[in-house]
Amino acid sequence: MAPAGDNVVVSKMKLERMLSMKGGRGEASYVNNSQAQAQHARSMLHLLRETLDGVRLSPPHDFPFVVADLGCSCGSNTIYMVDVIIKHMTKRYEAAGCDPPEFSAFFSDLPSNDFNTLFQLLPPYGGLSMEECLASNTHRSYFAAGVPGSFYYRLFPAKSVDVFYSAFSLHWLSQVPDVVLDKRSTAYNKGRIFIHGASESTANAYKKQFQSDLAGFLRSRSKEMKTGGSMFLVCLGRTCSDPTDQGGAGLLFGTHFQDAWDDLVQEGLITSEKRDNFNIPVYAPSLEDFKEVVEADGSFIINKLEVFRGGSPLVVNHPDDAAEIGRALANSCRSVSGVLVDAHIGDQLSDELFSRVAMRATCHAKELLEQLQFFHIVASLSLA
Ligand code: SAH
Repeated sequence: MAPAGDNVVVSKMKLERMLSMKGGRGEASYVNNSQAQAQHARSMLHLLRETLDGVRLSPPHDFPFVVADLGCSCGSNTIYMVDVIIKHMTKRYEAAGCDPPEFSAFFSDLPSNDFNTLFQLLPPYGGLSMEECLASNTHRSYFAAGVPGSFYYRLFPAKSVDVFYSAFSLHWLSQVPDVVLDKRSTAYNKGRIFIHGASESTANAYKKQFQSDLAGFLRSRSKEMKTGGSMFLVCLGRTCSDPTDQGGAGLLFGTHFQDAWDDLVQEGLITSEKRDNFNIPVYAPSLEDFKEVVEADGSFIINKLEVFRGGSPLVVNHPDDAAEIGRALANSCRSVSGVLVDAHIGDQLSDELFSRVAMRATCHAKELLEQLQFFHIVASLSLA
């Protein structure tokens, strides 16, 4: 653990070597703070099923039917969704009068993801027949494997995957753009830790990064997808065309979280430069930002591309309890950004920071519940 004030400089460390959601099962872990993502994903199941209805049924004796979840993290959301996908495809095979093939599911995320926690949550395979597994909620009906790596590059052999699923992950950039960390650049994000309310050149650097990352993602998937396969992608999005207004992501990272960083500076716990060197590598694209990249890539047909209202990222038991809302915001923020914050300022200052986020959010509980809404970009794509 880094002692308070002894700031660990990791800005030069490659983000993709260290990013992960908070692992384990503690209070601020992703496992315990991803109910909102679960709810939002469930509200889009009809769109996922539409995508699955367009996937070609490959001959059962030929290959396993392969599903890959990209950016699976370590919670139970990925297990739930993979199960939905495989059950839906099984029904389609049965409806077509065919025996379902064997299924293989790849859980993929960056190497720093807590795969151990994920694997421990996986229901067992075997002991039952394939038919019994398929009908069961306590056993899995597929072979499972973890795939470590960045989805902005190749992860699978050519033409090997039938269905790609990725939820709430593609808004994570592969890196904070260099110019945003360069004091001499107009894109230097002085005084801020996110692009919400930042300068136009900072926001444009993020947009450029997002678009080149997404281009890498599409290029890789176009090689890995089997003919007739499809992908269903969901990421944070925004409704406003101006990228300095990041919508729900802006409220999450750009208000109380930002103010808490400023508190640490004002209290002399960190320098302003230390704060300015921290930037949340998230970009919530507009529909246009996303569409431009898919069209420029040209490998995919757009079956669906829309902005979907996901709802609040805060799940609370007592909406009148301001302290619970404050804690929920701080935990939700920490479960996704805590690993980066810990690495930047050490665990003790990170505790200080998030307790200030909770305090500030408690004072604004009512408006947070009313105003904090996430919008998502939903894309259903098939090979052209
Ligand atoms: N899909 C899950 C988790 C979303 S959290 C759910 O629905 O709950 C976002 C995940 O994206 C994190 O686990 C993070 O590590 C992963 N991620 C971010 N950038 C990535 C990259 N370049 N390659 C692979 N995974 C990435």
